[in-house]
Amino acid sequence: MTPAAQTLKEFKLRHTNGREEVLDLFINAGHALAHNDVESGLGPDHDRVTIYRTLRTFLDKGLLHKVLDDEGGTKYALCRETCADGHHQHDHVHFKCEHCGQTTCLDHVSIPSVALPEGYSRKETNLLIQGVCRECSK
Ligand SMILES: [Zn+2]
Ligand SMILES: [Zn+2]
Ligand SMILES: [Zn+2]
Repeated sequence: MTPAAQTLKEFKLRHTNGREEVLDLFINAGHALAHNDVESGLGPDHDRVTIYRTLRTFLDKGLLHKVLDDEGGTKYALCRETCADGHHQHDHVHFKCEHCGQTTCLDHVSIPSVALPEGYSRKETNLLIQGVCRECSK
């Protein structure tokens, strides 16, 4: 069984070739992907709506989480074990490289807690750090 098929099974998701291919893209990429990246990575025989639904399902099931991009777009990243503690917690820092343009999860760098004024309740926190990534610094 491929790692993608294995993951689908672990998350109790019905196996389809489309789902496996989408998951494969994320596993192989190692960084966050935008909807367009997924679309172009899969090729023309996948339709937009199905891809959209697949991403939606993966988000709901906790296989992927959203990553906000500096340009206001949304990217998706694979959840690692560090995402699993707590329910739907993905409170790690994201890093956007201005050189290669890729956004990466810094899984082990957690977002510092911020004390909110009275009357504000937190739903989620996003922290995007921009700079030059490890690959581009070599
Ligand atoms: Zn996550
Ligand atoms: Zn880079
Ligand atoms: Zn992440």
